[in-house]
Amino acid sequence: MKILVINCGSSSLKFQLLDMENEKLITSGLVERIGIEGSCYLINVAGEKHRVYVDLPDHSVALKHVLDALVDPQYGLISSLDEISAVGHRVVHGAEAYASSVMIDDDVMNELIKCTELAPLHNPANIIGIEAIQQLMPGVPNVGVFDTAFHQTMEPSSYIYALPYEMYTKHRVRRYGFHGTSHKYVSERVADIMGRDDLKIVTCHLGNGASVTAIDSGKSVDTSMGFTPLEGLVMGTRSGQIDPAIISFLMEKENLTINEMNDMLNKKSGILGVSGVSSDFRDVEAAAAEGHERSQLALDIFRRRVKRYVASYAAVMGGLDAIVFTGGLGENSAEDRKLICDGMQFMGVEIDDERNNTRGVEAEISSENSKVKVFVIPTNEELAIARDTLKLTKDLI
Ligand code: ADP
Repeated sequence: MKILVINCGSSSLKFQLLDMENEKLITSGLVERIGIEGSCYLINVAGEKHRVYVDLPDHSVALKHVLDALVDPQYGLISSLDEISAVGHRVVHGAEAYASSVMIDDDVMNELIKCTELAPLHNPANIIGIEAIQQLMPGVPNVGVFDTAFHQTMEPSSYIYALPYEMYTKHRVRRYGFHGTSHKYVSERVADIMGRDDLKIVTCHLGNGASVTAIDSGKSVDTSMGFTPLEGLVMGTRSGQIDPAIISFLMEKENLTINEMNDMLNKKSGILGVSGVSSDFRDVEAAAAEGHERSQLALDIFRRRVKRYVASYAAVMGGLDAIVFTGGLGENSAEDRKLICDGMQFMGVEIDDERNNTRGVEAEISSENSKVKVFVIPTNEELAIARDTLKLTKDLI
């Protein structure tokens, strides 16, 4: 049983085709610069990358090329699209409508359209991707897997902002949280490894976008992203948590429009804004190692912020059994993991430097005596999407 996973962005899309008999990846790839000059798609075949430059005016044409490539005899991947039983779509925002993945029908499409004002950069691309697949693969079931769904278990004391309550009831302004598919996947993996389903876990998804989640007995109870993915940690280009009064102050001082202010917070801040060097952690770490002070400062701010969340979430849950690191930085940077955990020995967190000297693979990195277990768990959102898609469609196919 083969499942196609699609993750549509505004001008790009990523895809994976998985054989769910053995959860093996058949192929993966991405399409870039959709609707922009220089568009191309890349498909991985038996460890080799094939890049094809072709005019891709919209997502529908882009997906048509992807489907053609999947059945192209020169790649030898599958012989017919009939082999694909279902398609799973990553959808960024499901608001309060979806606490788990869902089979997509007309009602769901209408709900996604209603969520667009909450995720204006993301949901429209997700909707276009679903419509394109419905048109190109009629009769094949589509499943929506939401970044927000896992966090729907949070209580009002976590998700309500201290604004006039009507801002929630009238405009749906509340904390939703994101990266839910990843936090759920890595926490379930830890529950498996430790053989317990009553664990108090803090999961740190640290990449370009970054968030921390408190998970008690498999349920998200708090998370650092909020109404949008801007809240919480310092990220590649996003400010994360700041004093909201800064916004009107700077708009006046710098004579900025709302769009320009949003642009500053989302695209010019974070470790890029502080370091002035790059949004990529590797560049900033290299600059810091050569003595660039603002790069060092950016990293110090980032690490302190992660530490604050981990420790405060332990207090929210009244205990801590495990910390998980995932995402590009969490999976690969031993130094960041070490420095984030440093100072938490009083809570029973102790890293073993030798075990921590690992990258990109599943590992337990805490010392033998550490009361709190610390893990590196590579995330796999596509596999999680494919599993949910299989679960919801297996009786239909
Ligand atoms: P996205 O949010 O775009 O999915 P990723 O999870 O792929 O991001 O993470 C990308 C980030 O991870 C980049 O900033 C990259 O520099 C960082 N990263 C990857 N490998 C390392 C490493 N060995 N050391 C430090 N940072 C790393």
